[in-house]
Amino acid sequence: MCEECYSDENRITPLLNPLDCLENHTQYICGTCGRCICIECDPKRGLQRWNFPFKSLEIAKLYLRTADFTTKSSCGIYEIENSKARLSYKIFAASEDLELFLKKNKDKKCRQMSPVFSVEEYKEYPHTQVRKLTSDEIKKYMSER
Ligand SMILES: [Zn+2]
Ligand SMILES: [Zn+2]
Repeated sequence: MCEECYSDENRITPLLNPLDCLENHTQYICGTCGRCICIECDPKRGLQRWNFPFKSLEIAKLYLRTADFTTKSSCGIYEIENSKARLSYKIFAASEDLELFLKKNKDKKCRQMSPVFSVEEYKEYPHTQVRKLTSDEIKKYMSER
């Protein structure tokens, strides 16, 4: 697993519409393995991809670094269950954020109330970049997938 971005697949992201994401969204470029992770902040609501629920723990892990980097802290991935017993995974910076979310979403619950995954401590790495890619970089990145 890449120590910086917590994935062992260094070109797996973006998962959906990769070209659109790489061309239009600011990326967290892992200084260790080069993986690009969408860190674009939606100007209207101030939300990033990591603020939304994920279908699996594995996918949530792919975005955890952008949460940690944005909040400059070690965030947690929590398992959320809806009224139909369907599971999803959400990243919160602190357990208070989870509690607030559960208060606002009465149909959801979190059995464990503690992260199913988080890293021990937040660290910064020397070669990290946060920016949009150039068209040459996009071509190269896509060819390496
Ligand atoms: Zn994106
Ligand atoms: Zn990495």
